[in-house]
Amino acid sequence: MAQLVCGGCHTLLMYIRGATSVQCSCCHTINLAHEANQVAHVNCGNCRMLLMYQYGARSVKCSVCNFVTSVGVSISSTFISFVHFIKYPYY
Ligand SMILES: [Zn+2]
Ligand SMILES: [Zn+2]
Repeated sequence: MAQLVCGGCHTLLMYIRGATSVQCSCCHTINLAHEANQVAHVNCGNCRMLLMYQYGARSVKCSVCNFVTSVGVSISSTFISFVHFIKYPYY
């Protein structure tokens, strides 16, 4: 299951990964299930609390300890290794 935030009422919605749209059960807004409004998870770098943030965010602030955890780094390093794999498939 994947999650996104409703564009109408900001309720967190669950939907089946791969679906192109999801209708909100609260306000009946049809939300397009594209990456921009998907929700990702990261553990706080300080207290290990599980945090949610909107996909594409560079950092997320912990609501418990106010530590700012950077989330952009891991996404770009994954992308770089993926590119490397395509360029050098025999390594
Ligand atoms: Zn809604
Ligand atoms: Zn924290």
